Amino acid sequence: MDALPPPPPELAGVVSSDPAAVRAVSGSRGPIWMPPRAVARPRDVDDVAATVAWCGAEGLSLTPRGGGTGMPGGNVGPGVVLDLSALNRLTLESDGTLSAQAGVLAAAADARAREHGRHLPALPSSAPWCSVGGMVATDAAGARSFRFGPIHAWTRGLEIVGSDGATASLDRDRAPTDAPPWGALRTRLAARALAPLPPVRKNSSGYAVHRFVDTGDPIQLLVGSEGTLAVVTDVRLDTEPLPEARGVVLVGVATVDALPEAAERADATGAVTCEYLGRRLLELGGLVDDPRVARLDGRAGVLLVEYGGSADHVAAGLAAWPEPRMASTDAPTMARLWGLRHDASPAIARAAGDRRSIQFMEDCVVPRTALPDFVRGVEAALARHGLDAVIFGHAGDGNLHVNPLVELADPRWRTTVRDTLDEVVDFVAGLGGTLSGEHGDGRLRAPLLERIWGEAHVAAFRLVKDALDPEGILNPGVVLPLQGQDALDGLAEGPDLQRLARVAPAEA
Ligand SMILES: Cc1cc2nc3c(=O)[nH]c(=O)nc-3n(C[C@H](O)[C@H](O)[C@H](O)COP(=O)(O)OP(=O)(O)OC[C@H]3O[C@@H](n4cnc5c(N)ncnc54)[C@H](O)[C@@H]3O)c2cc1C
Repeated sequence: MDALPPPPPELAGVVSSDPAAVRAVSGSRGPIWMPPRAVARPRDVDDVAATVAWCGAEGLSLTPRGGGTGMPGGNVGPGVVLDLSALNRLTLESDGTLSAQAGVLAAAADARAREHGRHLPALPSSAPWCSVGGMVATDAAGARSFRFGPIHAWTRGLEIVGSDGATASLDRDRAPTDAPPWGALRTRLAARALAPLPPVRKNSSGYAVHRFVDTGDPIQLLVGSEGTLAVVTDVRLDTEPLPEARGVVLVGVATVDALPEAAERADATGAVTCEYLGRRLLELGGLVDDPRVARLDGRAGVLLVEYGGSADHVAAGLAAWPEPRMASTDAPTMARLWGLRHDASPAIARAAGDRRSIQFMEDCVVPRTALPDFVRGVEAALARHGLDAVIFGHAGDGNLHVNPLVELADPRWRTTVRDTLDEVVDFVAGLGGTLSGEHGDGRLRAPLLERIWGEAHVAAFRLVKDALDPEGILNPGVVLPLQGQDALDGLAEGPDLQRLARVAPAEA
């Protein structure tokens, strides 16, 4: 490899090719491993702008990185990785708006709001490790997004550095904007006759062209763009008052055919979550005889439904679920019910033996009426390829995490992964879904985009990329594929994969 072009003097101390520093940012929390040539650790926004300008001048690709918890490999790249963790200033404004630099951890932002009786409802379960910049970049969501929506619904303002190294300030309240490049881009996108969107409740695949065209708000295009259109340096997020009362009910799922109706019931009764733990997760997680679960008719799994609001609203919500059920408004019991998934992980890891949980089809989203077909179809595909898997997640939004356990000692395991993924892509497209409800496309799903979205949508995504990053500096190969890119490029080898694939199987 050629020597790295020397960074300008103002970036001395920011850019490093030290092997340990490079190794630390070579992996994602999924199976993709891609060492960069260097890592840059900006101390402030000026450093970010100078790094982007330097990469542009030298033709180096730049991959923004927050907590590095992303799964599909959007947070790794072969050029310069921009580690934003030192940008960590956080304030809560008097109107409850969180103002955070990109590297602030999501849990820290939420904790600040909680000190003042508020919270950030679109909080992912990776909140202790992921950054607010990463959340915005992936359009992250959490269990409560069932009621409150993903992070795009909570993003009030962004400070960004564009691909030319220029800073810009974007405010939701100033939309629609005709300012360059946004007005002209919106006009060009609006002129395209795009097919209707996949009919899903949430989606982190592709660019949110439709939301941008509808609102004229550039923030809506940048949220979920995975570091491919701009670097986010500061985020302003709305928060919500904490509910006066809470209650949780755990109910059995006798058959997956019951999932759409249960999701409707959760919606109609104003639930804030509707989370599913599939049967195999309960079995491998040693939870079938657990006192929390044993009394329920959970032949196809269990649902965890939470209510928040007035005490009357919570009581009515809990009562809407027939017996047998396990309901509570008492904080320790609610925590125990929420702890089920977390409790399952060590037992699943033990039951998995030498197999590893590999996240390569972990974030599909389908219309929730299609959930029974999705679960059955995916289980059949897994069985055909000899894979066991745990299935769980945001059933209320039709977004289920499928984590196959892969035998890495089997010399055919890569072929098994490829064939299974290949089958699932067409299957999900046929159900009207996409491959990502909240994690994003990353590198893994970029080459599969056209099979889900079709040519016209992908052409619109390319128009966006060409308008905002004409030189292709920002995270090339993420969201949109490069020529010849393969979904399994960067699938880690040997020890790296063993190390990477230790994400607890029931955690994401
Ligand atoms: C155990 C576990 C649980 C998880 N649970 C959830 C969940 O409940 N919900 C959910 O949505 N996700 C979940 N995830 C996935 C992941 O945590 C989210 O995608 C998260 O938002 C990524 O944030 P990060 O700071 O780690 O970003 P990274 O992993 O560093 O980056 C992710 C993407 O964002 C881009 N990016 C990061 N920072 C910036 C920036 N400042 N400007 C521009 N682009 C940037 C990167 O280039 C990359 O494409 C989970 C992951 C794990 C490991």
